[in-house]
Amino acid sequence: MSVYACPASLADALALVAQGPVRVLAGGTDIYPGAGADLSGDVLDLTAIAELTQISHNAVGLRIGAAVRWAQIAQATGLPPALCALQEAARKVGGRQIQNAGTLGGNLCNASPAADGVPPLLVLGAEVELASARGTRRMALGDFLTGPRRVALEGGEIMTAVLLPEAELQGASAFEKLGARTHLVISIAMVAARIEVAQGKIAQAAIAVGSCSGVAQRLAVVEASLIGAVISEVNDRVRAADVAAALSPIDDVRATSSYRLEAATELVRRAVSRAAESAT
Ligand SMILES: Cc1cc2nc3c(=O)[nH]c(=O)nc-3n(C[C@H](O)[C@H](O)[C@H](O)COP(=O)(O)OP(=O)(O)OC[C@H]3O[C@@H](n4cnc5c(N)ncnc54)[C@H](O)[C@@H]3O)c2cc1C
Repeated sequence: MSVYACPASLADALALVAQGPVRVLAGGTDIYPGAGADLSGDVLDLTAIAELTQISHNAVGLRIGAAVRWAQIAQATGLPPALCALQEAARKVGGRQIQNAGTLGGNLCNASPAADGVPPLLVLGAEVELASARGTRRMALGDFLTGPRRVALEGGEIMTAVLLPEAELQGASAFEKLGARTHLVISIAMVAARIEVAQGKIAQAAIAVGSCSGVAQRLAVVEASLIGAVISEVNDRVRAADVAAALSPIDDVRATSSYRLEAATELVRRAVSRAAESAT
């Protein structure tokens, strides 16, 4: 007989997950569509653990609990403008029902190449916090995502939080997503850009593109080429060849690889321009 557990404390959850294989459940919006007819096995539901469902900010940085839902992120007030991209992504994930159930941690642990949460966090230098009965560790999000649908979670571990260092919460960010329609659609390409402006010129740029490689990528060459630009120069500075060199899109039912590259370049230009305007 399968067991369903919904503990209120992290310690109880870690004790349960240490006992052996269990299906870790948050919003269930990836698990259940993917499970098909196979819903067997024990389930550990994380959503009653208060510390996993909160957003907090102190001098060290911002902490987003792994079971924080998209709707919470979308509706949160008082977050730094550097989080605008994450909040815009939250409003574009699925539709209202998905945003009310789906969590940030579930999006990251599912590790889809099209996960809308990843680019906005990569431009914030995000780390993930992983806990088990053995202790707690943290690692860069880019290291946690080891490939399409692959993450660096070890046996008995759950993700407890996403950590955003204070030093990266500077400037303003923007998110651009292209799909066949605006909502309830998997991204053909999506881009997050975080820009800092000083004396009218771009002083720092962080750009990440998703759905155009196995794991979303930062565009280091494009970022460097933007330093010192004014907003009217952004389109010229974002060169299609530099965007393409960092990505490896596939052809699939949603788009060809060449269309994805063309779209990604345009989305980068739009996201950078919008973030720079907000940061000015
Ligand atoms: C109709 C529909 C539309 C969608 N649209 C989008 C979209 O536009 N953009 C997008 O990015 N995604 C979309 N999704 C996918 C999904 O909604 C998101 O990825 C969501 O954030 C998943 O979160 P969840 O809490 O539901 O994860 P769950 O389904 O509960 O879990 C997903 C995976 O992560 C694991 N997991 C969850 N939490 C933890 C944790 N804390 N520690 C360890 N492992 C954990 C689970 O074991 C499972 O393997 C859509 C899904 C549907 C059904």
